[in-house]
Amino acid sequence: MAYICSDCPRNCGALRSESSGKGFCGAPSGVTVAKVMRHMWEEPCLGGKQGVENIFLYGCNLKCVYCQNYKINASPAANAVSRYKTYSAEDFSGLLLAAAKTDASAIGIVTGDHYIRQIAGALTDDVRAEIKKPLVFNCGGYMKPEMLELLSGKIDIFMPDLKYSDENLAGSLSHAKDYPSVALNAVKKCFELTGPAVFGDDGLMKKGVIVRHLVLPGQIRNTIGVIDELNEMFNPGDIVFSLMSQYLPVPGLEPPECFARLKGPISKAEYKKSTEYFENAANLTLGFTQDPSSSDSSFIPDF
Ligand code: SF4
Repeated sequence: MAYICSDCPRNCGALRSESSGKGFCGAPSGVTVAKVMRHMWEEPCLGGKQGVENIFLYGCNLKCVYCQNYKINASPAANAVSRYKTYSAEDFSGLLLAAAKTDASAIGIVTGDHYIRQIAGALTDDVRAEIKKPLVFNCGGYMKPEMLELLSGKIDIFMPDLKYSDENLAGSLSHAKDYPSVALNAVKKCFELTGPAVFGDDGLMKKGVIVRHLVLPGQIRNTIGVIDELNEMFNPGDIVFSLMSQYLPVPGLEPPECFARLKGPISKAEYKKSTEYFENAANLTLGFTQDPSSSDSSFIPDF
């Protein structure tokens, strides 16, 4: 059903109809799915040997200039939403149940920030009861706490990004100067909904929050700020922190002059410094770092 949307901190007040969306994210009122695919390279505590059955959603409320899923998120061609199937709440429930029947270790809903209302609607008590494996909500972090509340009891693992501690960087690269405070609040809310990280005897995560941060070329201070904020907010064992090195410049990227380093990868020295800082953060006792070889386009799904 069409509605005027203020679901995320953009507060567009734009019309989302069944077939198109006039807001910043470009999403219609249903859930538009760009791809469903098994992902073998998520954090090991999620995928195990079987991987995560990921449902990639169309559109984004951030559209970062360096977005690796830019074909569906950052710069979709006009009316690209029509290339994909848009699901009603009932049909999206069916898609989740089909994913639950696969042999994947977990189900991932990817870039769900602008579809929280719809996902909450699809996850009725009956549907949720049939999903016996961890349901992961993978998101950019730009969300309202009151919207996240709609997912209470429906999501096992929240996996928000915390991309920036630097407002100017957030404004320049993701069009959202308020991202640092908004996303930190969202992370706090996610933790309120799940509690501390829980792992099964199989070593896989069953419940909790994984915060992801991608190190950007030339922006070590931004990374250090993110680690400091999380270290201050949480206690040992509360959350899992995933420090990612897989930044890759996307085709045609023309960053603002002052961020020219974004045209290349991060350096080994930058990632080493970031990992050392993380390792010394006393309250971030659970986490992952990445092998620098992860910075390879073969890890990016083709949309
Ligand atoms: S969810 Fe989309 S349409 Fe709604 S406020 Fe956010 S960006 Fe705008």
